[in-house]
Order: sequence, then structure tokens, then C-alpha cells
Amino acid sequence: RAKREAEISRHSQALETANTLYRQQLRTATAAVSYLKGRGLSGEVAARFGMGWASGDRQGLSQVFPTYDDPLLVEAGLVILSEDGRRYDRFRERIMFPIRNGRGHLIGFGGRIVGKGEPKYLNSPETPIFSKGTELYGLWEAKQAIRSAGQVVVVEGYMDVVALAQMGVEHAVATLGTATTPVHIQKLLRASDNVVFAFDGDKAGRKAAWRALEACLPLLRDDVSLRFLFLPDDHDPDSFIREFGLEGFRAALRDATALSQFMLGELAERHRMDEAEGRARCVHDAKPLLQAMPAGAIRLQIQRELATLTRLTPEELGQLLQLQDVPSG
Ligand code: ATP
Ligand code: MN
Ligand code: MN
Ligand code: MN
Repeated sequence: RAKREAEISRHSQALETANTLYRQQLRTATAAVSYLKGRGLSGEVAARFGMGWASGDRQGLSQVFPTYDDPLLVEAGLVILSEDGRRYDRFRERIMFPIRNGRGHLIGFGGRIVGKGEPKYLNSPETPIFSKGTELYGLWEAKQAIRSAGQVVVVEGYMDVVALAQMGVEHAVATLGTATTPVHIQKLLRASDNVVFAFDGDKAGRKAAWRALEACLPLLRDDVSLRFLFLPDDHDPDSFIREFGLEGFRAALRDATALSQFMLGELAERHRMDEAEGRARCVHDAKPLLQAMPAGAIRLQIQRELATLTRLTPEELGQLLQLQDVPSG
């Protein structure tokens, strides 16, 4: 355990050193600054998130790491070691978003290209201290705001988090380009008992919302609120709040769909509910979802609504579902 702490701190210190350079470089990177200004971001917000700029220099980090061939830099995902033994910076010509863990240690970066190019976002690789499937961008920065808002908003992108903060919604965090996992949900519920998912209003975003719902099911409790905000077509939280303003976004948050409603609505939409076969298949598809939920009032509520929807008696549905009596943790 002490060894692990030492490893985290060694990696984290290397990342901090890199970030010092990136932040310093942003001050004089005219193209990057005007790009950020063009997206409505102020220098204050960029500073609050510790944003920076990785220059085009292939060994830019050698400015702050005198021993550029230190294996730690490769391990930490800052430097790439090519097959022919040459080393070069992973992040070049990108706006840098430092990613911190729940305790504020720097564990990785996301980097956005300015203008066109591929890939649009480049993340740190999986390292001994960074795993995309468990971290939430902005959680550390948002901690206080989450507490005072009594809510946490989950979005898809770095830019969404930063743009929302710029507009006054400081309690947002982002998944790191991966599906929402049960570990994410655990961390979210530890931060707040009121979670609103606000994914992009495109096909991928709707799919991501359903996957988030699935990840929520094992952790459902009667004393938590889990909601889904569906943005109008092709808006993401960043574009939405810039078009409709803080009040527009707040209204959308208030109108967000409850998990039960999303789940039942989606199930009903996927089947021909006017036919016996469709209603039967609906029960079939709902079964694993209800089975994933711990026993509790919310499961009973959903079960009752599903019975009505599928025109079964609660007893008939109860028999079909074979739910276990495992209470929530
Ligand atoms: P922007 O507004 O800057 O275009 P965005 O956040 O709206 O960015 P999306 O395409 O909606 O971008 O992607 C959401 C998130 O998914 C990004 O913030 C990033 O974490 C991740 N992501 C997107 N594209 C890539 C990519 N090519 N490689 C890795 N991760 C990506
Ligand atoms: Mn998208
Ligand atoms: Mn966007
Ligand atoms: Mn987006």
C-alpha cells in the first residue's frame, strides 16, 4: 500500500511538472487562446481547470525534464518510445485538460486538437495510476459546488464541463470518452444522492444514457434521485447552454426524466405494446433489468408500472420475474 502511494506520487509529480509547462505555454499560444475565447471560455475558467497548451515541439517536455529518457515519462504516458528507440512527446499541438483523481492527484491528461485533425481528443493511455473506466473528469474541481448544489451533472466531454462552469453550472463532471461504469456510479453516489446524466442529443448520447441506466441498476436505492436529461437534436451541454443560457439549462435539469420513466418508456417504445407478443417480449427484456436491481420500494414501484404496461397482474409479473430478495447495500 505504501508502495502504491509512492508510485502514485512519483507519476503524479511527473504529470504536474509537465502541466506546469503546458500551462505556461498557453499564455503565449495565440491560436489556442483565440480558439478558447471563440468557444466562450475566459482565462479564469481555463486557469481554474489548469488548462494548458502542448506545443508542436517533438521533445517539448525536455525543457522541464532534464533526463528525457527517464522510463517514468513513458510509463506515465507523457512520452512515446518508438520501435526504433526514439522518444517524443505524446501530446503535441493540443489544448490540455489535466485529469485529477478524487483526492486531487494529477493522474492523466486529455488533449484537444485545435481546429480539424485526428483524433479530436487524445487521452493519456491506461497507466498504473490512470484508468479511464473509473475516473470522472472535473470531480475534484467540482466537489464543493456539488455539495452546495446538492446535485452532480454527468456529461460526455471535457468541453461540456468547462463550458458549463463558465456559464455558472459548476457541479458537472464527465466520463472520459468511455461508457459509464458501475465504479463511476459508485463515485457519483458518494458525491451526491442526486445525479443527472446529460449526454449529447445524438444517437451515441442516447445509447450512452441507456448504458448509464444499466450501470445504475445494481446501485439503485430508495433515497437517491437518478435522472436523464435528453438534449434536443445534436446539442451537447456546451452548445445547449450557449444557445439557451443558464436559465435554459437549469430548466432542462428540472425537467430531466426519472430513471424509472426512461426505463419503462424505452421498453414500451421498443415493442408492439398493442399486441400480446410485444407485451410478452417487453416482460422478457425487462426481466434482467429488474433482476439487476436490489430489493426496495423503487423496484416494487417499477414492477407495478411494468405490470400495468404489460397488462399482467402484479402477482403474474412477480412470478415471471423471479426477483431475489437482496436488499440494497
Ligand atoms: P468538442 O465540443 O470540443 O468538439 P465534445 O466533448 O463535444 O468536444 P464529443 O465528440 O461529443 O466531443 O466527444 C465527447 C467526449 O468523448 C470527449 O470529450 C472525449 O473525452 C471523448 N472523445 C471524443 N472523441 C474522441 C477521440 N477521437 N478519441 C478519444 N476520445 C474521444
Ligand atoms: Mn457526441
Ligand atoms: Mn461539444
Ligand atoms: Mn459533444
